[in-house]
Amino acid sequence: MKHQDYKAMEEKFGAHNYKPMEVVLKRGQGVWVWDVDDRKYLDCLSAYSAVNQGHCHPAIMQTMIEQAHNLTLTSRAFRNDQLGLFYSELCAMTNSHKVLPMNSGAEAVETVIKTVRKWGYTVKGVPEGEAEIIVCADNFHGRTITIVGFSTDENSRKGFGPFTPGFKIIPFNDANALADAITPNTVGFLVEPIQGEAGVIVPDDGYLREAKRICGENNVVLILDEIQTGLGRTGKLLAEEHDGIEADLTLIGKALSGGFYPVSAVLSNSEVMDVLQPGEHGSTFGGNPLACAVSRTALKVLQEEGMIENAAEMGAYFVDGLRSMADNRVADIRGRGLLIGMEFIPEAGGARQYCEKLMGAGILCKETHDNIIRFAPPLVISRDDVDWALETIKKAIFNI
Ligand SMILES: *Cc1c(COP(=O)(O)O)cnc(C)c1O
Repeated sequence: MKHQDYKAMEEKFGAHNYKPMEVVLKRGQGVWVWDVDDRKYLDCLSAYSAVNQGHCHPAIMQTMIEQAHNLTLTSRAFRNDQLGLFYSELCAMTNSHKVLPMNSGAEAVETVIKTVRKWGYTVKGVPEGEAEIIVCADNFHGRTITIVGFSTDENSRKGFGPFTPGFKIIPFNDANALADAITPNTVGFLVEPIQGEAGVIVPDDGYLREAKRICGENNVVLILDEIQTGLGRTGKLLAEEHDGIEADLTLIGKALSGGFYPVSAVLSNSEVMDVLQPGEHGSTFGGNPLACAVSRTALKVLQEEGMIENAAEMGAYFVDGLRSMADNRVADIRGRGLLIGMEFIPEAGGARQYCEKLMGAGILCKETHDNIIRFAPPLVISRDDVDWALETIKKAIFNI
């Protein structure tokens, strides 16, 4: 079959809820992927940071195969021999006390909303049904009804109401707005350390530290959604480390399995998690032995193979290179580690055309909003690969 045949099948039989770049991929290794015509591309999206460890990482693959031979799913009606190890290793690595495992990122977000509401009623003493959670404008936390209900993106919301009440939206990167929005019924503040989908919006240094202080003073749970920023992407294991803080609750997902399997988790650093009792929350696949085994190896290689340090080093190098070639069509280049945004001026005519040029030259990336390209290659990228990417971007976008 040819590119057009794969495309035609998708268009005819699939829901049209995505508009992908016109490439059909069949193989991946490290930072590289190949299409059905055997053309090779540098992956600069990493499945939205789910393949931080690189495509088909050999150690994770080995674990996946071995565990698939042993046991894949028990449900939580029974214990399994991987879950406790996954919990204890993840807690040790992230300095957490408790873990609640789920599958997708959106499920982790839903879990945390239920948990802080319950905490509000049973511990903080908020009247039943009155709990408020504060979130930020331009957030991205997933696609369920509750989550899109507190999105400010019209595309995500329109036509899907009625929505879940109990959320208050404030501007991102504005600690005073947080302080002003808190009431006696506020149970949590949910925020991304860097807004990835909004276009790699990096807040001021100290914003998260201020948020932590304000939440602490008002007995409000600080919840960081690190599903995209976590697990090495920004050059630290968790992006909260850039501000020297620890959130009360942290959400991770995406790279937690290195791209092999949907695995997410809520990490708890306070006693908040203890409000959940047997029967009150769960998931058939959450905490299954295949997911736990795969995650344990995905976390291990992230640390043992120096991917987090490499993200810091290669990220800085990548940004420097982009800055040195940018012309007056570029409004801003920003990022932390290997989460990089290049924003064009509106007059440049949109970022999609540049993504298409880059695809023609052998780099896969995706525009976010109209004018921003996100560069987020796997964290195993080498200096030679970055050099090649920079040369390619220079020719394809800046004609030098
Ligand atoms: C991707 C993402 C989610 C949702 O994860 P899914 O696995 O797609 O449900 C939530 N929050 C952030 C910050 C994300 O980047």
